[in-house]
Amino acid sequence: MRVIQMTTNPNLNKDRKERHILALSGGKDSAALAVYMRDKYPDLDIEYVFTDSGCELPETYEYLDRIRAVLNIDITILKSERNFDYWLKYYKGVLPSPKNRWCTRQLKLKPFEAYIGDDLTYSYVALRADENRKGYLSKKRHVIPRYPFVEDGITLQDVINILQNCGLGLPAYYGWRKRSGCYFCFYQSDDEWRALKKYHPEEFEKACQYEENHSDGRIYTWRGKKGGKPLFLRDIDDFVPSGEKQRYEESINKKLSSLLKDIKLIGINTNYVLS
Ligand code: SF4
Repeated sequence: MRVIQMTTNPNLNKDRKERHILALSGGKDSAALAVYMRDKYPDLDIEYVFTDSGCELPETYEYLDRIRAVLNIDITILKSERNFDYWLKYYKGVLPSPKNRWCTRQLKLKPFEAYIGDDLTYSYVALRADENRKGYLSKKRHVIPRYPFVEDGITLQDVINILQNCGLGLPAYYGWRKRSGCYFCFYQSDDEWRALKKYHPEEFEKACQYEENHSDGRIYTWRGKKGGKPLFLRDIDDFVPSGEKQRYEESINKKLSSLLKDIKLIGINTNYVLS
């Protein structure tokens, strides 16, 4: 496994004039795109990369291992030269939030763009035909996005089929969380936080400490405020065991939930809600 800590201009792959890069997110769509590209364009020299924020879920690393093994591919791990704690200090202790996504900028986008450098690059993006969003678009003119799923009409059901048919399955965190990313991601619903507390208590504790360790008394919380009062993670209640399934059903994307019913989740903890 190649791990690269990115500087601003690594001058990697200088000799390559045209590159094909598929960025894996640790989620189902990009994994399915890797399978799809391998099958449809077996001769294309694709570089598979994963940009590691350093704060990913254990299930994500496990799923990447599985992708490597099932597809027999190398995945280059890209990392920012500086970790989350460095950037948190740099931003004076202000936790990232939907309005201030410095985490994505510093830990995900910059290492990825540094890896691309100045090469003419086709970047394969796992947007599906049934999605109504744009996804990340590089401002660099030499980075050309390609949307194979959109072009070929691949939908969520197709993605699930692709992953099932090749034996890859889905990452285990789908048992309790909608998407990959940092364990403390502020896009989590309350139920996902509750599930983090239950399945990854150490990570949950670290997330709590990030809210509490401001020596100057300022308050930043991952979940923001309600009625002017900060919503501390420490105050979140536990899963109600009997309501677990129902809570999950309510919180996760309904369509994905129905598709996942008969599907095996791959991961360390097979006792997640859906298994
Ligand atoms: S997963 Fe969430 S916390 Fe992590 S970089 Fe992305 S937006 Fe930021």
